[in-house]
Amino acid sequence: MLACGRAGRSGYGEFVTAPDPTPAPVRLRPEIAALPPYRQGRPAPEGGYKLSSNENPFDPLPSVVEAVAAAGAEINRYPDATAFALRERLAERYGVTTDEVIVGAGSVALLAQFILAAAAPGDEVVYSWRSFEAYPGLVTVAGATSVQVPNRPDHGHDLDAIAAAVTDRTRVVIVCSPNNPTGPIVTADEFEAFLAKLPSDVLVLLDEAYTEFVRHEASVDGRTVIGRHPNVVILRTFSKAYGLAGLRVGYAIGAVPILDAARATAIPLGVTGTASAAALASLEPEAEAELLARVDTIVERRDRLRAALLAQGWDVPEAHGNFVWLPAGEATAEVAERLFDAGVVARAFPPEGLRISVGEESSVETLLEILGHVVEPSQDSH
Ligand SMILES: *Cc1c(COP(=O)(O)O)cnc(C)c1O
Repeated sequence: MLACGRAGRSGYGEFVTAPDPTPAPVRLRPEIAALPPYRQGRPAPEGGYKLSSNENPFDPLPSVVEAVAAAGAEINRYPDATAFALRERLAERYGVTTDEVIVGAGSVALLAQFILAAAAPGDEVVYSWRSFEAYPGLVTVAGATSVQVPNRPDHGHDLDAIAAAVTDRTRVVIVCSPNNPTGPIVTADEFEAFLAKLPSDVLVLLDEAYTEFVRHEASVDGRTVIGRHPNVVILRTFSKAYGLAGLRVGYAIGAVPILDAARATAIPLGVTGTASAAALASLEPEAEAELLARVDTIVERRDRLRAALLAQGWDVPEAHGNFVWLPAGEATAEVAERLFDAGVVARAFPPEGLRISVGEESSVETLLEILGHVVEPSQDSH
């Protein structure tokens, strides 16, 4: 039986059953005790496909595995606390100083650090909804208040409404482009117009976890934002395009005082030497060329999958990440269950829709087979 009650608070849980509330033996922060506990999603059945976490389906590159093995010879030592070598490499690439780069244990850790640095109890953090599952929990942990602004009918950010939701209590606005889990991007023009409406002392986190998969030329691109808007920090990750989800390494670029504050809220030594070594190996020219060619393959597969789903009658929004969104409405849990029976684990957000990662080539056929037959697309899903 499919349990589709509470969603996990990180982006990585899939189906989560509401736990029996066992009272804690000590006094906890009530808002923390009320958070849904982390639950790992269902593993894919034998021979099936795990398309629930937007992971990269390709095996790690041999050169990266070698770098990890070499780093393994030094695991009796603490890592470099600031991941200097990796920051140096990224600084060079983005044309900034090393102090304008921060590396974290995944960009989720960095999101947490920035929110903790800027938002305290009584403060508000504004973001689009539905968006990345981790945002609400991170805001709650900081003791701040989430203000969620509904997506537009096309499932993209409603930036006018987000700007209108900003008050003198707002400390952080999160913009996720492409938006996880729905897929649309924010355009560069939209982003500029949006920034012009915001007070310049509000921190804007531009979460670009999927930027390498974007092929839309009007899209916002954090690289062109750097240095022009001191209140904007861009966040990127090695987890998706670079296939290092298991090692936990992401980075952010922005003004030094903001990054220093985020360094102050970090749990020390979160980025391991192994993770840094893998990231550096992935940025070697030959390795990176191969990784980005894989991204091209995923992009082609994504566009083909979306076109086929549209042809089947599914109202799939624009897909600019490594995933597609099926607005299945009330049928969401049922569609997820049919997919599971066919060996595919998707990420269901009942009663809104499902996010399906673009994975192995052979998964596409299975998806189209199931989604073309089992359930009529819902018409009332907006
Ligand atoms: C996957 C993802 C991240 C980052 O994940 P890490 O593995 O922590 O780097 C950040 N934001 C969004 C929207 C994501 O989907």
